[in-house]
Parts: sequence; structure tokens; C-alpha cells
Amino acid sequence: MKWVRLTCIEPNLTQQNMIELHKVNKSYQVGKNKLHVLKGIDLTIEKGEMVSIMGSSGSGKSTLLNILGILDNYDNGKYYFNNELIENMNEKKAAVYRNKHLGFVFQSFNLISFKNAMENVALPLYYQGIKRNKRNKIAMEYLDRMGLKEWADHLPNELSGGQKQRIAIARALVTNPSVLLADEPTGALDTQTSYEMMDVLQEINQTGITIIIVTHEHDISERTDRIIRLKDGIIENFSKN
Ligand code: ADP
Ligand code: MG
Repeated sequence: MKWVRLTCIEPNLTQQNMIELHKVNKSYQVGKNKLHVLKGIDLTIEKGEMVSIMGSSGSGKSTLLNILGILDNYDNGKYYFNNELIENMNEKKAAVYRNKHLGFVFQSFNLISFKNAMENVALPLYYQGIKRNKRNKIAMEYLDRMGLKEWADHLPNELSGGQKQRIAIARALVTNPSVLLADEPTGALDTQTSYEMMDVLQEINQTGITIIIVTHEHDISERTDRIIRLKDGIIENFSKN
């Protein structure tokens, strides 16, 4: 039975590893052709690390991040998240797993336009069945941490890009995830605001949350512990800053 495998801990895996990929492949079917995007990715990310994934446009960064975030399936290989083998999850199970363990931040913020800042932050708690009063209270605490308490009843289109991304970060953190995944989180922000966002992410990382940032900006990746470079579907090299 599948669920037995999901909870099985393999003896060769170490407790410190948050993420382990072994020979992970991913292809897309494009018309009649198969596009082989990830070609046997081996990757380990330790608990508490803050890493960046770099590579040119189309190199498979988002594909990799989506697999790590269980937003997409891989074709073959093995993916262990906190020593749990992630495979063959149906969407319902994946959604529950994501809600429990993962936070996401995207370049385009992905806020719900007709909900105010507090409601956006509280949304993941709604999916956990938490009552409105309680979830709004928790959301306010996270807004406060992001310095946006006064903006709680504002709609996204009344906020700056930097404020919107802070709301998105608060929403990603509200469920207390062990890993935060960010796909080009500073891609839509000016330099100054990008650096402020990196300050925020570094502070979050110091609380013990593992952070994985996809970026093509060197000054952003330089502020992470380690840069993972993707080229032609493989990880080119590992470099420590
Ligand atoms: P990056 O984030 O590094 O720019 P992506 O992971 O988005 O790269 O895409 C890698 C390659 O896979 C690109 O050539 C892209 O066009 C292709 N691709 C991505 N998603 C799909 C999809 N759902 N269907 C078909 N091709 C895709
Ligand atoms: Mg991308």
C-alpha cells in the first residue's frame, strides 16, 4: 500500500537533510516531442539552509522548484522530504502535505485581489479548518511581524510591490512550514526593495526555516548560503559563498 511507503524511513538517510533528490528526471510532452528538462538531478539540502537555484531562462528552475514543492510530479528517481519518500501523491493528498509543510512565494505575489491583506494571510488557515476569529488573530500576528499591521484591511491593489510580497511571505509562514520556496521573489521589485526582501528572508531563515530561492540575479543569490546552478538539465556545480 502506498501510504506505508510514504512513512517509511530509509536507514541511509540522515536526519539533517530536509530535501534529497536522487536521479530525478522530468520531461514534458510538447506536441509529438518529449522535452527532457531535468536529467537525473542529485541534490541535498540540509535543514536550516538558505540556498539559491540559478540558471538561464528555460533551464528548469521552476520545474525543479515545483517538484520540490509537490506542485508537480517527477517521472522517475527519488524525492525525500524530511526523510519521507514523496511519490504518486494525488492532488488532494499533495495539497494537504503542502499546507502542512511548505510555504510558497512567487514573483507575481499571487494574492487574491478581492480579499484584504489579513484575509489573504489567513487563507491557508481556512483550509486547515481553523475558525475565523482564530485565523484572523494569527494572520494579524504575522502581518505585524512583517511590519504591515496597519495595512490589514487594505486590498492588494492599494499596496506597493514590496508590501504585496511581504503579505505573500506572511501568508507563506502562517502555517509554520519547515521549508519556504520562493520562485523569483524579487523579480518584480526594484533593487532597494529586493534587498529589503532578502533581509526579511534571512531573518526568517534564522528562525530555522529552510529557504530555497530561485533567482537569476547574482546579488540575490550571493546572499544565500549556497548557489545551486542548473544547466542543460543537470546541476553544474556547487559553490559556497
Ligand atoms: P525556468 O524556470 O528555468 O525558466 P522552466 O522550469 O519554467 O524554466 O522551464 C524549463 C523548460 O520546460 C522550458 O523550455 C519550458 O518551456 C518548458 N516547460 C515548462 N513547463 C512546461 C509545461 N507545463 N509544458 C511543456 N513545457 C514546459
Ligand atoms: Mg521560472
